[in-house]
Formats: sequence, C-alpha cells, structure tokens
Amino acid sequence: MDAASGSITTDVLIVGAGPSGLMLAVCLAKLGVDAIIVDAKDGPTRESRALGVQARSMELYDQLGLIDRVLAERAPAAAIAPGAGHRTFGTIEFRGLGDGITPYPDITVFEQSRNERLLVDALAAAGREVLWGHRLERLEVERLGREDGVGAEASAVVAELAAPDGVSRTVRARYCVGADGAHSRVRETLGIPFEGVTNEYTFYVADAGHVTGLVGDAINLRFTTEHLLLAFPMGGGRVRLLGIVRDADLDADGSLREERMRELVDREFGVEYAESAWFTTYRVHHRLAARFRDGPCFVVGDAAHIHSPVGAQGMNTGLQEAHNLACALADVIVGGMPDARLDRYEAERRPVGATLVATTDRLFGEITSESRFARFLRGRALPALGPVGVRLLPLVAGRRVFGYLSQTRIRYQLRDAAGRGARSGGRRRRREAAVGVRLPWTGDNYDVLRSMQWQVHGYGVPERVVLRIARELGVEPHVFPSDRGVRGRPQLRHDRVYLVRRDGFVMAEVRAPGVGADLDAARAAMFAPTAG
Ligand SMILES: Cc1cc2nc3c(=O)[nH]c(=O)nc-3n(C[C@H](O)[C@H](O)[C@H](O)COP(=O)(O)OP(=O)(O)OC[C@H]3O[C@@H](n4cnc5c(N)ncnc54)[C@H](O)[C@@H]3O)c2cc1C
Repeated sequence: MDAASGSITTDVLIVGAGPSGLMLAVCLAKLGVDAIIVDAKDGPTRESRALGVQARSMELYDQLGLIDRVLAERAPAAAIAPGAGHRTFGTIEFRGLGDGITPYPDITVFEQSRNERLLVDALAAAGREVLWGHRLERLEVERLGREDGVGAEASAVVAELAAPDGVSRTVRARYCVGADGAHSRVRETLGIPFEGVTNEYTFYVADAGHVTGLVGDAINLRFTTEHLLLAFPMGGGRVRLLGIVRDADLDADGSLREERMRELVDREFGVEYAESAWFTTYRVHHRLAARFRDGPCFVVGDAAHIHSPVGAQGMNTGLQEAHNLACALADVIVGGMPDARLDRYEAERRPVGATLVATTDRLFGEITSESRFARFLRGRALPALGPVGVRLLPLVAGRRVFGYLSQTRIRYQLRDAAGRGARSGGRRRRREAAVGVRLPWTGDNYDVLRSMQWQVHGYGVPERVVLRIARELGVEPHVFPSDRGVRGRPQLRHDRVYLVRRDGFVMAEVRAPGVGADLDAARAAMFAPTAG
C-alpha cells in the first residue's frame, strides 16, 4: 500500500467480509494469492443468523485445518423430529444416513457469528486482516488494450472506498469479487440482473431459552394447516425457533410483535419459552444473479442468490462458492493457467445456485400453498401418515436426502478442451461416476487434500503407475489401498487413476496404465476452459 496516497494494488479485491468473503480470503491466503478484503461494517456480525453447517462445509473446514475448533464449539443435531401440531411422529437419525459418505454425518449447529469469528482468526493467523469500515463506493473496469495471452483483452478493476478516517482510498486489482450480500454494490454496478420474486409471507426468527414442548437435541419440524415451525438446538440450552406467518397474524402496520409469535407457537405447537436473545422478522426472496462472472468481476454468496432459509443451505452455498472461486483464482494467478479457467466458476456454480433457488422456491410454495389439496395434506394427510413416513423415509430415500442436504451430491457437468461433454450417455456416465463430483471419501483419503494442490490418486493401482502419471501431469501423487466402498460397493476403481483438483473435485479418470490418449484427455481436463 502507498501510505501517502492511500492507494492499494493487489491481485484480488474482495468486497464484503461475511462468511463468503471471509472463506475466499482464508483460501486465497493459504493458496499464496495476493488479496485484500474490505467491509463497510466495523467488525464481524454479532447476530446468530445462519445456524446449520452442512457436511460439505465441514469438509472444507477440515481441509483448511479449522475443523477441531468447529467440533469443539458446535452443537451437533444428530436427528430430525417431524411432527404435526403438538405431536411428534418419532425421530430420523442422520448418522446412519450419512455413514460412509462423509466424516461429518451430523448436521452441525454452529452459528454464523462463530463461522465469521473462526475465519477472521484464521485470516489473522495467516498474517492478513479485514479492512473494516471500508465501504465500496465506486467500481470501474479498465480495459488495458492488450491481450492476456489467450486472445482475450486484459482488464483491471479500480475501486473507490470510503475509509473510516473520512478519506477516500483507491484499490487497483486484477480481479474483484462481490461478496457484499443481497444488496450487492458490485452486482449493481456491473448491471447484473437479480431475477426472481419476493414472497408474500413473513419469516420470524427467535433464539429462545428455557424452551419446552420439543424433542431435545434434534431438529424439530412441525406443521399445522396454517403454520410451520422449525426448531434447531443451538447448544447451551438455547433453541432457534423459525416459522412463517401469514398477513392475518401481522399487526396493522405489517409488523409481528414477539408476544404475538409467542402465543402462536404455544397455541399451534404447544411450544413455550422463557426468554429470547434475538428476535427478528424478514420477508423471503428467491432471486438468482443472471451472471456470476462479468470480465474481471465475480459475485459469490448472497450477492449471487437468495432464498428461504428452509434447508439451511444459504451460508453453506456461499462458503462453497468462495472455495471453488479461490481455487480457480489460484490456478490462474499462482498456477499460470489461462484466464478462461475462471469461466468454470460460473459454469459450475450457477447451475447449483439455480437448482437451489428453484427448489427452495417450489418447496416454500408447497409449504405455504392455500390450495384445498395442500391444506388437506397439511391438516389431515400428514398427521395420519407421518408416523409411518418417519419409519419409511430413511429406508426409501434417506441417503439421497442426506446427500442433497449435506451438499455432498453436487455434480459439475464438465466439458473437455474441445467443448465436448466429457460425460455423455448412460454407459459412459456409469463408467466415470466419480468425474465431476467431490472425491468420494474412503476413510483415509481426505488428509492429503489439505495441501490444496492438484493431485492424482490411485486406489489399489501399482505405485509406479500413479507416480508416472503424476509426473507426466506435473501434480502430487497419492497411493491408497483398494476402496472397500460404502456398503460393499467401491466408488473408486482399482483400474483407474483419478485427477483431483485443489477443491477436491475429480476432474478426470485415467485408465491404468495411463498412456497416450487417456493421459492427453486428463491433461485437457486440467486446462479445459469451458464447462456447462
Ligand atoms: C435473520 C436472518 C436469518 C438467517 N437464517 C439463516 C439460516 O438459518 N440458514 C442459512 O443458511 N442462512 C440464513 N440466513 C442467510 C445467511 O445469513 C446468508 O446466506 C449469509 O450471511 C450469506 O453470507 P454472505 O457472506 O454471502 O453475505 P453477508 O453475510 O450478507 O455479508 C455481506 C457483507 O458485505 C458487506 N458489505 C455490503 N455492502 C458493502 C459495500 N458497499 N462495501 C463494503 N462492504 C459491504 C456487509 O457489511 C456484510 O458484512 C439468514 C439471514 C438473516 C438476515
């Protein structure tokens, strides 16, 4: 930084130090990418806000060496307890559903303020800090009038920040990431449409103490014809109560008083509480940014998508986007890959955001529908069939539901360097089941991912084959015993070597012994500019 002029030059400017921006900053620090992170606030959020940390986000914390603190401070929710009105149908244990899929098969309750504090501390340990009290006022993209080496025009961003001492500070960066939340200034400046709807219902959130009427240490989910209640154990005897109210429950000025909400949860669900540490209400929006990349600028987290909190996916999706983008930025800035590598961020993550917004919007619509059929389902069918459903669901769809909620099932559609679908057709898809997904966990293959470097993995493949392929591709080799698989079904084959990206996603399978066209295909998968 030039102290006299207050101007800063860096590779990456991150605007916003919520969970998404902080995750990006921590990953970039670990990957050796020069970056600065600024936030208009004077410190991390003190509100609990998002609560659930899903298994995939736990895996990221593990990769960053932060998992021990999360495990020590979290409140695990090992089960879900569905019910109707004052009644619970029984409990569905998560642990069995996620066994063998991930080292973290619970839902971790670790509130947003703690996530932010964890990441701020990790950033400090890496010798970096957030520039708090720095608000982005203006952002311009400069065309540099020369090519970037692969035919595209090089550009840079120039940002004007209002600093706490009343002076204006200029930042010049190669790339800018808008992690600045739902009202993103970065997204707005770039003119990226934020398409979607604002729903008509009001959500309430109360972090309550001394709560009665719920199954302890489980996530409670209750319906009545008119209402929904979700309750998350927060640890320390506190419970997050979250529900929807209709306009008839609001005061004349459109607000909901906590007293009114307290009467409602008692009347509808038989749930009472003595006090609350936080009570708030908000309208739900379902919106998705039309682009996640615009030249040298990107949007992540709430700046890219917002939706209802049902399913506890919002913060987690932002954390994973930030992780994906950090790895892509490192490939380009440190690893020397072409700028087009960064196009994979939008190609991979926007479809995930689109599915999330569409699914939560549809679910929210079904939960709140006023149709006679929906009211019949909530008021009559669910109370009658729920107890049987609780017993059947884990058997019929439990592991699939766990996969969606935990975000471990996400699959990116990859294309090779020539733009062809790398996986097309059912048989090919079955053969390359591991390509485009996060590396399946075998019990002992995640420790090596902590290096956050490209690697090849062989499971039961001769060591010399793995070493040679790694040498040819210029990446780290890792040799493991054969995969015994989940429930006796191996996911990683002993006649394949897997190319694994910094973020733990499998980019290619190379048939052992890995020569000729097979090796060329893996090389192409490393540098392939497009996906989608
Ligand atoms: C009441 C409430 C309850 C919620 N409950 C849940 C839940 O149960 N589960 C769940 O998954 N999600 C929940 N969410 C959503 C969750 O909080 C968000 O998904 C998450 O915070 C997104 O993180 P982010 O880093 O993308 O954005 P944010 O957390 O919004 O962070 C954006 C940051 O950018 C900064 N900023 C904004 N503009 C500028 C600017 N011009 N210059 C500099 N800095 C700027 C802000 O100060 C802020 O720190 C809840 C949200 C709210 C409000």
